[in-house]
Amino acid sequence: MALKFIDQADLTDKKVIARFDFNVPLDKNDPSIITDTTRIDEALETIKYIFNNGASKLVLMSHLGRPDGKPVAKYSLEPVAKYLAEKLDTDVVLSESALDRSIKTLLNLGETKILLLQNVRFHEEEEKNDREFAKKLAEYGDIYVNDAFGAAHRKHASTYEINAFFKNRAYGGLLLKREISALSKIVESPKTPFVAIVGGAKVSDKIKIIERLLSNVTHLLIGGAMAYPFLKASGYDIGTSLCNDEDIALAKKILREKSGHKIVLPVDHLCSKEFGGEPQVVENRNIPEGLMGLDIGPKTLDIYKEKLSGAKTVLWNGPMGLFENETYSKGTFGIAKILSDAPSDCFTLVGGGDSVSAVNKAGLASKMGHVSTGGGASLEYIEKGNLPGIAALRFGLE
Ligand code: AMP
Repeated sequence: MALKFIDQADLTDKKVIARFDFNVPLDKNDPSIITDTTRIDEALETIKYIFNNGASKLVLMSHLGRPDGKPVAKYSLEPVAKYLAEKLDTDVVLSESALDRSIKTLLNLGETKILLLQNVRFHEEEEKNDREFAKKLAEYGDIYVNDAFGAAHRKHASTYEINAFFKNRAYGGLLLKREISALSKIVESPKTPFVAIVGGAKVSDKIKIIERLLSNVTHLLIGGAMAYPFLKASGYDIGTSLCNDEDIALAKKILREKSGHKIVLPVDHLCSKEFGGEPQVVENRNIPEGLMGLDIGPKTLDIYKEKLSGAKTVLWNGPMGLFENETYSKGTFGIAKILSDAPSDCFTLVGGGDSVSAVNKAGLASKMGHVSTGGGASLEYIEKGNLPGIAALRFGLE
């Protein structure tokens, strides 16, 4: 049965409990400052929709950081409550804890319309997907909404088990709807040529997605530290570049597969003697002893540009180098620029925290087909075609 979204619900006079992903980055020196509000901004559409369509109360929930099941002051949702109040131009009450006794009183008697529960991960039951905890949360609402795409790959009480208490009253939010619709263009039958660009650091984390993509893509372009195990496995020297034996073994396995020839590897590099040190261009695949690769080189970027020309679907996950350091950011920003110049009949999807932050930093996010709010979630969705948080919304529908 098809998933139901919030725009199919009758919200008149209903109390709505909604899970969002307000796991925003905070300033290291001053955790009251949110350094990137994107995830909250993306949630506003659903929040406003719920209010403009007659709901009487809205209880918001989210996690923030990894407090490991106990209250940790620096992971308080207070800055989120403040930002929401500003954006919605209304009071947003933050409860002392997700299980605070005053919550029900506030919901039944008070004037308060929007209540934000304190970080659900302050309770160890959340990550344990505990049924009793889920039941207590469920008591706050007549209707449940999940709009936390970034947390939908987690099987936690507020994303998964809570659905058991909302048979036929559980809905996906509008952000979840947008994410699923964009990802379906990759998961179902992507228009070809379909080119995937995979970068970042850990082969083992992305191995399944590479295997899954290989059967569908026209080319799979590899960059970042991800490239070195593949180069090593192909017999090239990689100097002191980031690489381990386990990743080389995984790369060998992938290269041996039937579609292994679709993998395209860097032909030149920007290297240094030390991490983030003076840059040195290496004009061929082999990296000399004592040097480490920190970005793809200019010839590689040209080849990747050529492979991307004419593509109808592009998926990008993971940076092409140590892009946080400007000296080694040209490959990553170069890819962002190429994708932003893609013709309108090419659908570009950017997922994964670092590539998303590169696209945002370059001011090119609006030029992409879709920028996913969930790194791990988008990869897992492409790999499996579903996520626990989305599957659970169907509990009551069977
Ligand atoms: P991931 O989380 O797997 O997408 O990896 C992202 C991280 O990989 C970023 O912090 C990058 O700076 C880092 N990275 C990418 N390329 C390299 C490289 N060649 N050497 C070291 N770190 C890299």
